[in-house]
Amino acid sequence: MNDACIFCRIVAGTIPAQIVAQNEVALAFRDLSPQAPVHVLVVPRRHVDSLAATDDAAELGAVLALAAEVARQEGVAESGYRVVTNVGRDGGQTVGHLHFHVLAGRSMTWPPG
Ligand code: AMP
Repeated sequence: MNDACIFCRIVAGTIPAQIVAQNEVALAFRDLSPQAPVHVLVVPRRHVDSLAATDDAAELGAVLALAAEVARQEGVAESGYRVVTNVGRDGGQTVGHLHFHVLAGRSMTWPPG
């Protein structure tokens, strides 16, 4: 755990979040500033800076499996959804703990901004 990391603190339960799903490896909670009717963040429990900082395929698999579970739970697996992770400055990452956004409930545009 990184005490300075806001998502580590959510995982530890020391700051509140609306948790929607979890498994042994990952936690899913609603984004504070939703960009779509469904906007959930899925994070590994372990602190990992970003996708650029890991090659742990088992951990990444468990995180993505939870993202798919969130989509089923939110009722958007059939209508469709987007899973995205921002990496580093040019990727637009603002929180330095790996997270996948699960966005759904509206039609997504491409390319992203
Ligand atoms: P990114 O810009 O890809 O690093 O995404 C970070 C996301 O974390 C943003 O969508 C924020 O709205 C969200 N966020 C920041 N703090 C919190 C928090 N305490 N609880 C839930 N979501 C948060």
